[in-house]
Amino acid sequence: MSTKVNLLNLNRADMEAFFITHGEKPFRAKQVLQWLHQYGVADIDAMTNLSKILRAKLKDIAEIRVPEVVVDQASTDGTHKWVLRLDSGNSVETVFIPERGRGTLCVSSQVGCALECSFCSTARQGFNRNLTVAEIIGQMWVANKALGRDPFSRGREQRIVSNVVFMGMGEPLLNFDATVGAIDILMDDFGYGLSKRRVTVSTSGVVPALDRLKQVSDVALALSLHAPDDALRNELVPLNKKYPIRDVLDACKRYIAGDTRRRITMEYVMLDGVNDSPAQARALVNTLRGVPAKVNLIPFNPFPETQYRRSSDANIDRFRDILKKAGLIAMTRKTRGDDIDAACGQLVGKVNDRTRRTQQHVVLSGS
Ligand code: SAH
Repeated sequence: MSTKVNLLNLNRADMEAFFITHGEKPFRAKQVLQWLHQYGVADIDAMTNLSKILRAKLKDIAEIRVPEVVVDQASTDGTHKWVLRLDSGNSVETVFIPERGRGTLCVSSQVGCALECSFCSTARQGFNRNLTVAEIIGQMWVANKALGRDPFSRGREQRIVSNVVFMGMGEPLLNFDATVGAIDILMDDFGYGLSKRRVTVSTSGVVPALDRLKQVSDVALALSLHAPDDALRNELVPLNKKYPIRDVLDACKRYIAGDTRRRITMEYVMLDGVNDSPAQARALVNTLRGVPAKVNLIPFNPFPETQYRRSSDANIDRFRDILKKAGLIAMTRKTRGDDIDAACGQLVGKVNDRTRRTQQHVVLSGS
């Protein structure tokens, strides 16, 4: 293992502290952040506004280690997926979804996931570890590189990756510090310069972490709700047993308190015969009363050995219409990239499970 500091791990504050510690001026942080994140440079010698002496010094103590791309796949619909190799058999996935007028990068925050949502394929793989800031921001770095971003000729409006969502593998709020560190760089004017509306953290509802997030950031928030009542949500999102719907929705309200224009996106995966009935739509309307929300219906994306099926288009439309008639903002998320297993809940990477959950599954299914 290298003992050098990986510069991709440092947000502006960390980078300034780093230069000060080494007897340099703090403004060097802005220069290096720009080289790394705006010019996509991974070579200290290419940072030509640093003196030769400073570059030599920097090479002794620091390095730029970007995640290694082992698979680069493009879907027929323009969606792109990268598999990044990390260490000892672990890898994570990153997906780019181009749409008219914007391009969204879906990043992973953990190797695997410790939550056991019953309809998610990442959950099946168990959990290995948190990603570092470098591994999270490295996904953005790799995507911009691969998509041919040319920072010298493109204005802000034409940037290829215009939005980032933490909706890949893992629960970002259970990897709080690295998630926030990466968000800092995404939003820093000397990093990727994304506005708070263009960075979204998706969570299963880790209540204390939501309150902490509010103190350090104002990114957009999406909640994986998926059920109108606790009994069903306990089954689909077991974290609900610890933080039930009411508590999570109260935390959501606290998160956007003080800004009447903001809304929380409520993610709701459409599972045939499980959570998609008209009665459940009406129950959802009640549950969300008083919560500034918009509902995003996600057609379930199947994976091998799942017990669930996707709701029919007719049932999804019916569900959405009930929400809309009741005055909620509701839309159906278009399924993208499913031909390359890049759709929501299909990201698996390779996880060296440390929870032995895979074995538990074998035992359970054999009993
Ligand atoms: N841990 C975070 C990010 C997870 S993935 C969270 O829970 O929000 C982002 C979204 O995809 C979540 O709403 C998740 O519930 C949803 N999802 C997971 N598996 C899915 C599947 N098979 N089909 C459709 N959506 C899925």
